[in-house]
Amino acid sequence: MALHGTGDTSLLLRDEDVPPVHEDNPKGRSPFLLTSDHYGRAIPRILGDLGLAESELTRHIAWDIGIAGVADALSKHLDAHLIAQRYSRLVIDCNRPPQAASSIPRLSEATAIPGNEGLAHEAAEARRRAIFEPYHGRIREAIDARLRDGMPTVLVSLHSFTPVYAGIARPWHIGTLYNRDSKLPPLLLKLLRDQPGLVVGDNEPYAVSNATDYTIPVHGEARGLLNSGIEIRQDLIADQAGQKQWADRLANIFGEIETTLRMQRLI
Ligand SMILES: [Zn+2]
Repeated sequence: MALHGTGDTSLLLRDEDVPPVHEDNPKGRSPFLLTSDHYGRAIPRILGDLGLAESELTRHIAWDIGIAGVADALSKHLDAHLIAQRYSRLVIDCNRPPQAASSIPRLSEATAIPGNEGLAHEAAEARRRAIFEPYHGRIREAIDARLRDGMPTVLVSLHSFTPVYAGIARPWHIGTLYNRDSKLPPLLLKLLRDQPGLVVGDNEPYAVSNATDYTIPVHGEARGLLNSGIEIRQDLIADQAGQKQWADRLANIFGEIETTLRMQRLI
């Protein structure tokens, strides 16, 4: 549980570290732009293991378990551009405003994060510059380019949630997350509820707000794009078979949504 270099560093990512942004299908023709804020659980080498055991670094507190497989497959199915973050939300949470206390969490569920305790302002800034900014900069650029080219753009932010949080079991298989968009979420909810046997959460287990979220308010709402988040329960997408099944299901649903949005001239 070595703890290295959590102090001031302007060079957080070195040659041996992976780049923060993962992309699939940057030339994809789908109107859906997919993002995944909690796709990976990489940690910059210089930060060691943040003082946590491996068993903590593979848990939901570090990343959205299973979403990477769903996001990659969905991007392929839909021919949609996917922009995803490879670094763990424990290093910096890319779906939190940088000024929020939970941006670099000192506590997640019941786990204290020693490597985030007493972090100097410069060290927090280094994480923001090296990880948060390139990811959101890339999303911003991609949206700019699409708008310039007159490409219809619907933002879909992909997440997964733990089946049990702080001892409370969550009944939903999937939930939509939204705040200001009144067009896309109802369509998504209706088509999900048409699927036999699915328990669908409407803004469950979370809702979106400016204080607790970043991707949807900043890239979706502030830019006037149709948008919704999706949360899939992690036990359903823990293996490849589950990831494929959910990607297939969502690809069909988004296909139908695209047809509807075009008929309604919303895209
Ligand atoms: Zn997430």
